[in-house]
Amino acid sequence: MVLDGPGQPLVSRMVPVPELLPDQVLVRVSACGVCRTDLHILDGELSKPKLLLIMGHEIVGTVVRVGTDASHLPTGTRVGIPWLAWTDQSCRFCRRGQENLCEHARFTGYDVDGGYAEYVAAHAAYCFPLPGQHADAETAPLLCAGLIGYRTWRLAGPHVERLGIYGFGAAGHLIAQVAIQQGQQVYAFTRAGDVEGQAFARELGARWAGGSDERPPEALDAALIFAPVGGLVVAALEATARGGTVVCGGIHMSDVPTFPYRLLWEERVVRSVANLTRGDGEDFLRLVSALRIRTSVRRFEPEAANEALASLRRGEITGAAVLDWGPASR
Ligand SMILES: [Zn+2]
Ligand SMILES: [Zn+2]
Repeated sequence: MVLDGPGQPLVSRMVPVPELLPDQVLVRVSACGVCRTDLHILDGELSKPKLLLIMGHEIVGTVVRVGTDASHLPTGTRVGIPWLAWTDQSCRFCRRGQENLCEHARFTGYDVDGGYAEYVAAHAAYCFPLPGQHADAETAPLLCAGLIGYRTWRLAGPHVERLGIYGFGAAGHLIAQVAIQQGQQVYAFTRAGDVEGQAFARELGARWAGGSDERPPEALDAALIFAPVGGLVVAALEATARGGTVVCGGIHMSDVPTFPYRLLWEERVVRSVANLTRGDGEDFLRLVSALRIRTSVRRFEPEAANEALASLRRGEITGAAVLDWGPASR
């Protein structure tokens, strides 16, 4: 499914199977998650995509061809391909271990073609060999929603008993389970009136669930924001106890309204999360294999990518939307 330019629907089109660079592998895609970032690309809010572009950066598939310098991922390996496609390993951020901030980073399904396709080429060093406990479609959302959600959660810091999650979609429902199984109490905030989403959060073990216009019954130690709504930063600060941290997990957000300094006072922190490091991916996949994480997915035929994106935009997806290439991945 190809994007010709912002604001246009994706078009189903035959394109050549990608050529490989020596350090790349060719992966036959079996499932690819549909992420809110894809909507931001579609809407031109992320303004510099490669065009024509194949989006998709939560990819699960199988290695079918191996570049001359990529032999550590042999044919037949089941791999996950995340948002971080390549870094230079030489800029000052990479040199100090912050490859997520690399000045020349390339991103899957944005700077290079992604997984809304049958085949994708990926730099082998940025692919994750996958444990086999989840089916491919259930694994795909782990690769962005899960992984960026994990980095967002980790940056909330160590002293968190009461964790707020604003936006209980793909990332929220995965990270809530991680947090609960690590002994934290989760307070889930959905769109106002989304009783179905709130019931889903309670079913997954949230201590409290309500609309984002509501105040939680107790002050939070940290809040993670996964919905692209700047006003939630202020709402989260109002709900947060002294010393608390508010972490914005999305790549794009509407403007944050002005707010009185007293909401930041008492050492509250507001910060964002950008991208991922490969270390985050390895840590998260190890953690997930030790926990019992239920991924809730809604499957779409790859040709129905536009419908999947529209459903995500309308807030109709409970959990994560995934393009599924068929019975082989179930
Ligand atoms: Zn994503
Ligand atoms: Zn770099």
